Amino acid sequence: MPTYGKEDVKEVLYNAEQLKEKAKELARKISDDYKGKDLILIGILKGSVMFMTDLIREISIPCHIDFMDVSSYGNSSETSGVVRILKDLDFEIKGKDVLIVEDIIDTGVTLKYLMKYLSSRNPNSLEIVCMLNKAERRRVDIGVKYIGYEVPDYFLVGYGMDYAENYRQFPYVGILKEEIYKK
Ligand code: 5GP
Repeated sequence: MPTYGKEDVKEVLYNAEQLKEKAKELARKISDDYKGKDLILIGILKGSVMFMTDLIREISIPCHIDFMDVSSYGNSSETSGVVRILKDLDFEIKGKDVLIVEDIIDTGVTLKYLMKYLSSRNPNSLEIVCMLNKAERRRVDIGVKYIGYEVPDYFLVGYGMDYAENYRQFPYVGILKEEIYKK
C-alpha cells in the first residue's frame, strides 16, 4: 500500500466548510431553476462523488441521481478528445432535465464529448454544474451553467480528486506539491 498524506499538499485552496457552503449555494439555485421539472443529476466517477453528496443533500426539490464512468484516451496531461464509456447510465434520460455533476473542468474535452453523447438520447435539457473551473485551460467551447469556484492552473487534489488514485478522501481542495507528480 503506498503511503501519502497531508504533507504532499502545498496549500489548501478551499476548506471543507467553504466547499459545503458553495455546494449549498449552488443547490439553492438549482432547486429554484428546476422547480416542476424532471431533474436527474449525473455524476462523473470518481471525482464527483463528494460534490454530488454535498449537492444533493441541499437540493430541496425531487430529483434522481445516476453515475457514469469514463476514461479519456491520451497521455496523463493531455486528453485526446476520444472518450471511452466504462459505465453507462442506469436510467433513460429521454425527456428529462439532465444536470451533469463534475468536480473540475480543465480543457473541457471530456465534457464536450459527453454532452454530444448524452444529447443524442433526447433529454429535455442538458446542463453542467462543476465545483471548480480552470477557465484558462479551456480548449473547447462548452457552456457551464453553474460554477462553484474559478481556480488557477495548478494540479489539485482532495474533495474526490486524485493523483494516482490517492488523496480523494481529503475533505478540502489542495495544490499538490510538484515534486510528487514530477517524480
Ligand atoms: P478535461 O476533459 O476537462 O480536460 O478533463 C477533466 C477531468 O480531468 C476532470 O474530471 C478530472 O478528472 C481531471 N482533472 C483536471 N484537472 C485536474 C486537477 O487539477 N486535479 C485532478 N486531480 N484532476 C484533474
